[in-house]
Amino acid sequence: MGKKLFGRRDLILLAVFLLIGGAALLFQLARPAAAGGVAEVSVDGELVAALPLSEDGEMVIEGYGGGENTLVIRDGEADIVAATCPDGVCVRHRPVSREGESIICLPNRVVVTIRGGKEAAVDGVA
Ligand SMILES: [Zn+2]
Repeated sequence: MGKKLFGRRDLILLAVFLLIGGAALLFQLARPAAAGGVAEVSVDGELVAALPLSEDGEMVIEGYGGGENTLVIRDGEADIVAATCPDGVCVRHRPVSREGESIICLPNRVVVTIRGGKEAAVDGVA
């Protein structure tokens, strides 16, 4: 999984993103990202959690202004499955699993970003 794959895959990803619907299956086949990836969760610009994609789990993110987003880690992918925001854009977003991909909930100021390929130390937020 060298970095040189990134450029081309990035373009493919972009195409997938634009085509979404039927391309979802292709995306699945394209193999989830590095096992060492983490889903970084930030609220209003502050990192509040970093969940390893290798461990299935669920987290309720307390967003800005009392909103909540439910983040699920499953099969190496991070997905927001429920949220209190009015637009629901984050819930409709496909799961993310690759370096640099993110799910953003504007109303709750929640950003989930994938950081892959490195086993970054996960520090609690003081
Ligand atoms: Zn949202």
